[in-house]
Amino acid sequence: MAKPKIAICWLGSCGGCDEAVVDMNEVLLRVAAAVDIILWPVAMDFKYDSLKGMKNGEIALSLVNGHVRNSEQEEIAKLLREKSQLILAFGSCACLGGTPGLANLTTKEDIFSWVYRDAPTVVNPNGNYPQTTSSVNGKVLTLPEFYDRVYALNDVIDVDYYLPGCPPPPYSVMYAVSAVLEDKLPPKGSILAPHRALCDSCKRNQSKPDKISIKEIRRIHEVEADPDTCFLAQGIICLGPATRDGCGEACMSINMPCRGCFGPVEGVEDSGAKFISAMASILDAESDEEVATVVNQFVDPVGYLYRFSVPASMLQKKRVEK
Ligand code: SF4
Ligand code: SF4
Repeated sequence: MAKPKIAICWLGSCGGCDEAVVDMNEVLLRVAAAVDIILWPVAMDFKYDSLKGMKNGEIALSLVNGHVRNSEQEEIAKLLREKSQLILAFGSCACLGGTPGLANLTTKEDIFSWVYRDAPTVVNPNGNYPQTTSSVNGKVLTLPEFYDRVYALNDVIDVDYYLPGCPPPPYSVMYAVSAVLEDKLPPKGSILAPHRALCDSCKRNQSKPDKISIKEIRRIHEVEADPDTCFLAQGIICLGPATRDGCGEACMSINMPCRGCFGPVEGVEDSGAKFISAMASILDAESDEEVATVVNQFVDPVGYLYRFSVPASMLQKKRVEK
């Protein structure tokens, strides 16, 4: 019997999600024996023309990591959608826009001005910016179009399943691939991670007092955090109450608070808004002045609360006055 065909592909990606696949170690060899990997640009030599030549739906599953910021990434995403029975948005960039999505807090014009004109290391006396088409010595050169904003994968194609994480832990990658191979997939649109919040499984949860009250926000690099006590109880912002479980507590294990890479818990649209609501209930402040004092200690709240999710959040992008 023919083996199911699988594609692993990166769009706007740092490569960490591909690394998570490699981190499956010897299990990867078992998976590789059970499937036919027909595309994995980071690891093997494949030609996109071979992909274009495949029949629609010929690929059983495509694991797509990275965000979409340019026309080439969109084209590849659409090609994979056409050729695949199932698309798995793999990692926080594909699911939510990821850390590159923080670029949506500025504009394409500001990015180009800084990168090609204003940064102190740039020498560009003619003020040239990249063009999608240019001619050199009679030859036409083309570059992908850089879009106005970063998109999550489901902004440009229909996505069947989601596996968040920056990157997803190897055991959840194994679970996702096994579910496809064994035909044990949950309903379309499911996020392949627990429905509960990280706090529900966090070992530090037991250390929480009955009622947490914060008089002061402390930043993780400014204090020596107790390794067994709930970060919030120590006044350190931890996004565990608003973040989906499933990461394996990698950050907690090195005494770092949750930064939210697994995205919102089931039923929550915007994890940043959810956390602000949770925080409002634990602030120990009576007057407006006291509230302002504590809130002002929260440095870069948008960058902190939406580190992995600006494009998929209610914010989506910077609003520019026309
Ligand atoms: S989710 Fe994280 S590890 Fe994966 S491509 Fe994005 S930044 Fe890299
Ligand atoms: S707030 Fe953070 S440290 Fe505290 S229980 Fe939740 S996940 Fe754990």
